[in-house]
Amino acid sequence: VAERRTWLDKLRTGLRKTGSSITQVFTGTQIDDALYEDLEAALLMADAGVKATEFLLKDLKWRVKEAKATDPAAVKGLLADAITDLLAPLEKPLEIGEATPTVMMVVGVNGAGKTTSIGKLTRHLADGGQKVLLAAADTFRAAAREQLAVWADRADKPGAPAVAVEIVSQESGDPSSVSFDAVVAGKSRGCDVVIADTAGRLPTQLHLMEELKKIKRVIGKAQDGAPHEVLLVVDGNTGQNALQQVKAFDDALQLTGLIITKLDGTAKGGVLAAIARERPVPVYFVGVGEKLEDLQTFSAREFAQAVLS
Ligand code: GDP
Repeated sequence: VAERRTWLDKLRTGLRKTGSSITQVFTGTQIDDALYEDLEAALLMADAGVKATEFLLKDLKWRVKEAKATDPAAVKGLLADAITDLLAPLEKPLEIGEATPTVMMVVGVNGAGKTTSIGKLTRHLADGGQKVLLAAADTFRAAAREQLAVWADRADKPGAPAVAVEIVSQESGDPSSVSFDAVVAGKSRGCDVVIADTAGRLPTQLHLMEELKKIKRVIGKAQDGAPHEVLLVVDGNTGQNALQQVKAFDDALQLTGLIITKLDGTAKGGVLAAIARERPVPVYFVGVGEKLEDLQTFSAREFAQAVLS
């Protein structure tokens, strides 16, 4: 319970950084056009985007009418319900299926928090008794393998099953073959989960999406039905840009889930509403800090409460 509260506090602190806090909207005495205009501005400031903002306002007005609300405080409660209902379809826990290993491919632009999130995810899975193997398929960035190894080391705590790290030398160079080898190694070592870290930027004219599609195809050759998960890590602090990334990666790779990072330091949490409205890929986790334990499952109701508290 204590941990949960800390998470909400971090989220709340981040969301509050917005200049015009949404809660300010409800401090008046009347429900009038000014209230809805202020709310519209606050939602747009939080980067909910035009479509989700329009949707929420329309939905809220309907709820206010239905409930015959007369007091702004009641409107705030109804907005919490509207946000919860809008975001609820994004709530979905990451489930490890029957396949051994379950293969996850993790994608995202550099700096989004991909390596950190893989470290956190590895710890989460190891805590749940899963044996995890990491594949350093970002062969383009010199530091990527070392970074991954450091995270794996941290995730590997006494009592947890061993976390193996697949490190394939850069000379071999090809991210697809690194991923292929990792899936084969994962199978032979009896791992439950293989996580492939991929590049977020390429050094040459090579097209990132083409490279990632190729990795996905090759993973499928190493094991039927794989990858079972294609996860996109997006920086929640980048607002509407995060939505564009979700669309682009989903179009190319058919994402199965999202990890939205840095919600502890953002005023742009509204992007979740935009994602829910425009490209509802499930949010498996949200990142609320730089430590291993700062990866939390997403709850629409808790998020709505954090926004409005
Ligand atoms: P990558 O390039 O996508 O692999 O990004 P990294 O995992 O290296 O993360 C980039 C920076 O973001 C690092 O300084 C991380 O500590 C930081 N970071 C990652 N996730 C979070 C988060 O949820 N909250 C905060 N505050 N920082 C984060």
